[in-house]
Amino acid sequence: MSDAPQVLESYLAGAWRRGEGVETELVDPVHGNVLATASAKGLDLGAALDHARKVGGPSLRALSFAERAKLIGAVADVLIANRAKYEAMAIANSGNTKIDAAIDIDGGIGTLKYYARLGAPLGAATFLLDEKPVRLAKAENFQAIHLLAPRHGVAVHINAFNFPSWGLWEKAAVALLAGVPVLAKPASSTALLSNEMVRDVIAAKVLPEGALSLLCGSAGDLLDQVNGDDVIAFTGSSETAGRILKHPNILARGVRVNIEADSVNAALLAPGASDAAFDAFIKEVGREMTVKAGQKCTAIRRVFTPADRADAVTDALLARLKKTTLGDPRNEAVRMGPVVTRAQQAAAFDGIARIAKEAQILAGGVTAPVIDGIDPAKSAFVAPTLMRVKDAATASAVHDTEVFGPSATIVPYKSEAEAFALVARGGGSLVASVYGDDHAFFARAVTELGPQHGRLLMVEPSIADVHTGHGIVMPQCHHGGPGRAGNGEELGGLQGLRLYHQRVAVQGAMDLLTELQARAFALH
Ligand code: NAP
Repeated sequence: MSDAPQVLESYLAGAWRRGEGVETELVDPVHGNVLATASAKGLDLGAALDHARKVGGPSLRALSFAERAKLIGAVADVLIANRAKYEAMAIANSGNTKIDAAIDIDGGIGTLKYYARLGAPLGAATFLLDEKPVRLAKAENFQAIHLLAPRHGVAVHINAFNFPSWGLWEKAAVALLAGVPVLAKPASSTALLSNEMVRDVIAAKVLPEGALSLLCGSAGDLLDQVNGDDVIAFTGSSETAGRILKHPNILARGVRVNIEADSVNAALLAPGASDAAFDAFIKEVGREMTVKAGQKCTAIRRVFTPADRADAVTDALLARLKKTTLGDPRNEAVRMGPVVTRAQQAAAFDGIARIAKEAQILAGGVTAPVIDGIDPAKSAFVAPTLMRVKDAATASAVHDTEVFGPSATIVPYKSEAEAFALVARGGGSLVASVYGDDHAFFARAVTELGPQHGRLLMVEPSIADVHTGHGIVMPQCHHGGPGRAGNGEELGGLQGLRLYHQRVAVQGAMDLLTELQARAFALH
């Protein structure tokens, strides 16, 4: 990368286009220097969506699922060939360590590869069978089947700052397999990596024209330009989600919207858990607090422990956090970098201060940590911050506040019923993990915590060293949570295709339905 800030362009309507002026400066959160600028001002987003609908959509729909799966595999191959430069960008623009960068970059590539593999056996089909024939009348010859047909609009993907690679590709993989062209809008502050990846994919010409567009800069009038054929998949804060859902054009045209919003995820140590389960719990909470400096939508924010073990949990977590070396992630010894911007640092300090009104700060806090060779006035560091509520029965901020940084709060509980009730106060989350040994307890946790979550990770000693982690989103599993988390549904293998398809009941003669069934790929 040269020293002069790069000007990020957008790939819209078949060409790279530059917005007017500067809307956002993309900054290195370690040293404060400007790496790039982004602006979408003056760009014609209506024409961009039209191009994707009229050029990209028909080209993709002319292909079978298996052919589209091949395209997705080719996108992954382009990214693999260029991986080395992506890591440097993630370190510079997002303050990632190499491990953090791998979660984002390899998570994106891995999800593309997964959908390439998953799509291949769908073969020559171009639509999906959702349900087998059902009889409707006396005559056996007249029945109905439920099919899923790819939508004719654009998959408009609005992404959060914390996963410029994974967020882009986990959404694009599913939409492209469905045959729906993508217009991706990464969050401005970390769009450097998304921009470079899309540049490489466009230059490699592995996708039909119009299948992939990129908007770098603010959303402008994007929401005014979408129509009822399009699908918006949004990831970000609940405030922005609310703005999208209430937008007059979205309401008037009944635009399909999927929301992946914020979440105060829980880890719960079961009553009477063995020492091995306890150790797995401590390891996972410590890891979740510090990986990506806590900037994962799935990260553990609330740490529930039996009251009689709260001191042991506190001591073990403090001992673990002490080993986390903070600093410039370019230094190999560093285990945790900064958060992505000074605005995010200020937001994290605000959230910690809110929770700390009802909790004791045991490590970290609301001031920038002192780090050798790093200017606190230019950088965006937040120390790993562990808190413990003073009174679990009355504390409320811990359940309402998502500190989007390396922070978690211990909440001691006195009984199983109280534990489940306290977890539920999060108002709907992406994931909860439960650590213990008793399968009867895990089963009760499914019925008590299941309705509040999109995913439950049940950790017992036999899987302590092999599970994929509380915060890692696996493409095989459903991603999305109820309530505050946005009620979204992404991934989950082939189920993720539903978002980009219209379910249609086809009523007709049994011969025709049998023929249609044979042409479709059965989801079940
Ligand atoms: P954000 O401020 O809500 O921004 C998210 C995206 O929305 C950005 O691309 C942003 O663009 C765009 N945006 C802002 N205003 C908009 C508008 N009026 N119309 C259309 N788009 C608009 O969220 P963030 O700070 O980037 O992300 C952090 C949040 O995301 C956290 O709360 C985290 O929990 C959540 N998150 C959730 C998941 C999940 O899967 N559930 C995953 C990751 C993150 P600009 O950047 O250009 O403003």
